[in-house]
Amino acid sequence: MWQVLASTFGYESFRGDQEQIVEHVVAGGDAVVLMPTGGGKSLCYQVPALVRDGCGVVVSPLIALMSDQVAALRELGVRAAYLNSTQNPDQRAEVEAAFRDGELDLLYVAPERLNTAGCRALLQRGEISLFAIDEAHCVSQWGHDFRPDYLALGELAELWPDVPRIALTATATRRTHAEITERLHLGGARHFVADFDRPNITYRIVTKSEPRKQLLDFIRTDGVVDGQPATGIVYALSRASVEKTADFLVANGVDAMPYHAGLDRTVRHDTLERFLRADGVVVVATIAFGMGIDKPDVRFVAHIDLPKSVEGYYQETGRAGRDGLPSVAWMTYGLADVMQQRRLIDQSDGDANHRRVQQQHLDAMLALCETVDCRRAQLLRYFGQDAQPCGNCDTCLSPPNTWDGTVPAQKLLSTMVRLHRDLGDPPYGAGHLIDILRGADTARIRDRGHSRLTTYGIGTDLDAAGWRSVIRQLVASGIIAPQGDYGVLTLTDKSGPVLRGETTVMLRTDPARSATRSTRSSR
Ligand code: ADP
Ligand code: ZN
Repeated sequence: MWQVLASTFGYESFRGDQEQIVEHVVAGGDAVVLMPTGGGKSLCYQVPALVRDGCGVVVSPLIALMSDQVAALRELGVRAAYLNSTQNPDQRAEVEAAFRDGELDLLYVAPERLNTAGCRALLQRGEISLFAIDEAHCVSQWGHDFRPDYLALGELAELWPDVPRIALTATATRRTHAEITERLHLGGARHFVADFDRPNITYRIVTKSEPRKQLLDFIRTDGVVDGQPATGIVYALSRASVEKTADFLVANGVDAMPYHAGLDRTVRHDTLERFLRADGVVVVATIAFGMGIDKPDVRFVAHIDLPKSVEGYYQETGRAGRDGLPSVAWMTYGLADVMQQRRLIDQSDGDANHRRVQQQHLDAMLALCETVDCRRAQLLRYFGQDAQPCGNCDTCLSPPNTWDGTVPAQKLLSTMVRLHRDLGDPPYGAGHLIDILRGADTARIRDRGHSRLTTYGIGTDLDAAGWRSVIRQLVASGIIAPQGDYGVLTLTDKSGPVLRGETTVMLRTDPARSATRSTRSSR
């Protein structure tokens, strides 16, 4: 195996658990490997596949990456091929013949294909050295990336009892880990769990006021290494936001390029090439960007929209600092993000269970944003790892103050109760509620007679930004919830205990904002 490592891959030594994993699989054992992105999972099955007799069958859902992966292996002289839906029948027949004739070292297969009778019959006719199940978290219904086709992969254990199987993933909470073991029938496997900590990444999450300007400030201070602009990735949720942000950065002298699925293939290709080859390029992208990209010196990853899950956040921020040098994961997040994500979940097509799962993912992400404890410790605990405060995240470096927000929360909640119960009004958005609490004199307040409410003007101790901070945190913790398309707010089961004074509401003190305070809501 050392010879394969050196002569085929050109590496001098294994990293982390690689050596033990390779040894174990070469000897015919099953393995479950949890290793962060960039940790070197591929080698864990590629080396054993070359050492053992027969062809290694790799199950991967990332069809778009297969041809690149196979091309890279062929460059190294490995006899690799793939089978997926992008091929025509002739191409497939050629690969199938090569497999039967024992002319392949590695065969990449999409899970939906592996589950067909035809493909299984083919595999029975050749010699298999191992099965590698990549992105194994796809088997988890609770996970963020569930693929029904993965459920049938447990059958491989019964169909090929003598062939070792290795399941690999970078996203493993305790729950996902247990599901992988059970559903892929890996009860007898050895488990290799890597340290998920990325100590060279500094985590920072700031309150959103003017996201593009905040981003620019961040890039101008943290996106500079030795006086030179550094390479970075900015993630945004929508294509429109990607375009606008890239334009804004370019207009302000940053070498930025947009990247999303709506752009022409050649444009995307050129962008990727420049990003990989040139120094100091900033790519503004939707999450599609980055899968399988291996650039070691990415100095920062910025999020200007809230990711949907902690898994996603960890994977995206994990693209920073693969070379081990200091790097920053920065995010700006605000009330509108929470409202938007909750709305998207409400409107998603999935069944109730699916929505509940998405909700849990969002809640975990929000807890990370609003925590007053070490962000890294919180992140690692999410992945089932114990950790002490790190000294290298914003909450460790400048611990946020907390304050008792129970009274303002009660003022807001009773305003909502009175509007609904006493006046029979429909629910309102944050802006109008703040206007009532601050005793504003607006047309809507006059029209609807809202100045007669007993809570009118009882919230002048907070400015509008202060109220938005309270509302954001109340939405984040589920004490109030957005409803429908327009971001109106409603009460939840958690509202009552707060109103009755049975629970205290501890809130973060958001750092002072710049002079531009937004006083109007999105509605
Ligand atoms: P993962 O699939 O876990 O995200 P990869 O298998 O793509 O990670 O490996 C990440 C990078 O690390 C690749 O560029 C790979 O070539 C490199 N790498 C992996 N193992 C070693 C090693 N033992 N020595 C040097 N480089 C390695
Ligand atoms: Zn910390």
